[in-house]
Amino acid sequence: MIISIASGKGGTGKTTVAVNLALSLKDAQYMDCDVEEPNGHLFLKPQIEDSISVGIPVPEVDKSRCTYCGECVRVCEFNAIVVIKQKVLIFPELCHGCGGCSYICPVGAIEEVEREIGIIEKGKAGNIEFVHGILNVGEPMAPPLIRTEKRFINNHKTVIIDSSPGTSCPVVQAVKGSDFCLLVTEPTPFGLNDLKLAVEMVRKLGIPLGLLINCSDIGDRKVWQYCETEKIPILLEIPADRRIAEAYSRGIPLLEELPENKKRFQELYYEIEKEGRRRENEATDCNQW
Ligand code: SF4
Ligand code: SF4
Repeated sequence: MIISIASGKGGTGKTTVAVNLALSLKDAQYMDCDVEEPNGHLFLKPQIEDSISVGIPVPEVDKSRCTYCGECVRVCEFNAIVVIKQKVLIFPELCHGCGGCSYICPVGAIEEVEREIGIIEKGKAGNIEFVHGILNVGEPMAPPLIRTEKRFINNHKTVIIDSSPGTSCPVVQAVKGSDFCLLVTEPTPFGLNDLKLAVEMVRKLGIPLGLLINCSDIGDRKVWQYCETEKIPILLEIPADRRIAEAYSRGIPLLEELPENKKRFQELYYEIEKEGRRRENEATDCNQW
């Protein structure tokens, strides 16, 4: 089962939930897809065994062949290539590595060269199989790195994907293909606003979802009302606890500091499984009609 953990906004405790859910299971794979700011490793402290460089193919133009016809410019959807008089300019940071320009070039003047966008590290954190992607500083191409990282999904394990916050392309790339998406939120007006956007995104992806409300004793009751109206199951509520915040600031997983919470996370996993099965059955019933 692949469970992605997402949140409409940052700072809701998404990584805490992802890390501790992985720690509460016997045989999990934790995959940090928050490649711009991966921090699951600060808590799990994995032993890294392998590091893989990830790049995308970007064009390089052979000036001796180029006729400056501009075909490559016309095919590029991302404005990553420009022809000015007798010059072809490439903007590698804008290039998505689609290969369209080299395919279209009538004189074969474009060669593709690899540009590194980040790395993937794999290792072990106790029983947990650990994978994270690290995007190069200032690099905008997170989705291709996440796509490559997800090739390391181990289907024999319960996979916990820690996505970045928000609803942008990297989040969609991290969440899509999951069997279930757990959204983490806080019951504040900002939390609710961003939660609505996240729910919309997950529903568009056709993934069953549930909610974990962190710091459930702050703010107002609007998140509960929204969930009732939208029929979104609330799978766990965690009240604000200074000890959790302190453990977080020291890079200590909640379950290490407060092991009595292990059962709650195991129950959360069973709820997710149950909810996932219920949605599957509903879909089968609909198909039978
Ligand atoms: S399509 Fe090829 S020949 Fe035409 S401008 Fe681009 S690189 Fe030059
Ligand atoms: S590879 Fe694709 S994105 Fe990159 S410059 Fe060529 S057409 Fe544009």
